[in-house]
Amino acid sequence: MGETHNVIVIGSGPAGFTAAIYAARANLKPLLFEGRLKGGQPGGQLMLTTDIENYPGFPQGILGPELMDLFRKQAARFGTTLLQQDVSDVDFSKTPFKVTADEKDYFGKTVIIATGASANWLNIPSEKALHGYGVSACATCDGFFFKGKEVLVVGGGDSAIEEATFLTKFAARVTIVHRRDALRASKIMQDRAFDNKKIDFIWDSAVAEIKDPAQKKVTGVILKNLKTGQKTERKCDGVFMALGHTPNSELFKGRLELDVKGYVKVHDGTFTGVKGVFACGDVQDYKYRQAITAAGTGCMAALDAERFLESAHV
Ligand code: NAP
Repeated sequence: MGETHNVIVIGSGPAGFTAAIYAARANLKPLLFEGRLKGGQPGGQLMLTTDIENYPGFPQGILGPELMDLFRKQAARFGTTLLQQDVSDVDFSKTPFKVTADEKDYFGKTVIIATGASANWLNIPSEKALHGYGVSACATCDGFFFKGKEVLVVGGGDSAIEEATFLTKFAARVTIVHRRDALRASKIMQDRAFDNKKIDFIWDSAVAEIKDPAQKKVTGVILKNLKTGQKTERKCDGVFMALGHTPNSELFKGRLELDVKGYVKVHDGTFTGVKGVFACGDVQDYKYRQAITAAGTGCMAALDAERFLESAHV
């Protein structure tokens, strides 16, 4: 068995890097798995955004990838070892915990899980091309840029209603496009949307295409009525996807307790059901899902791990 690390952090979004900064400054010499720079999504969801204006400390805003680069540098500055590898397996059945990456085993007295969540997308080519140019999965992050504009929200759950309601603060008109004729959202949220004069609905419809990648901006969508098959064009300036999120917790199935949607269950802050294994950020949070809240729970996980190491004498 090789060296046993005090803290192994899995994930390189705001939660993972914040956990590493705190663990490193506590002299715990953390090892952090970033994921691969090609393929996966090291740096987390902020790598897919453009301007971030709601992260405190940056009054002029900052680009998502730039912010994550600063997080990364700060973690490295205090002595975090960064590995650009994907973790392929974990064994939490005995201590020290085993984490496998690139067919090599690493051992940790504690493990902090910060693998995040991924927004669900329609997976159409124009959506990818216009991501950050009018296509977004976060109204809280990007709504401000649509003052007086016309936007669509795709989806029919609580997030779709929440995003649409939030967007009415800025946009001239918000249209919810849903693939069925009934919302999935809770009744109270539905009533809120039906009562809002700025929100209207297009039912039984899917976004078949978003225009116009050639202009690098959203100018409209092609909608397909799923009952009649009829296609129509509609002008708009932005499209917000609210198709739910999928927590990146596949690796922990059968190893940690997950809720029905796959989020890692935590108690008393960041404790999972396995003593010495902590979870922070979006992999355990379906509710807030903000960079700042992820960073906050990353800090909590590092403090929990530090105290656990002190008290457990491992
Ligand atoms: P969700 O409940 O899973 O809803 C996702 C919506 O996207 C559904 O309406 C679904 O349609 C639609 N959808 C999924 N894939 C699609 C596709 N490929 N094409 C078109 N439509 C697609 O996700 P969520 O709204 O993010 O909510 C997640 C959880 O957070 C829920 O438990 C929710 O209650 C909670 N939440 C609560 C609040 C609040 O209380 N304030 C706010 C936000 C979220 P179908 O309906 O046809 O499946």
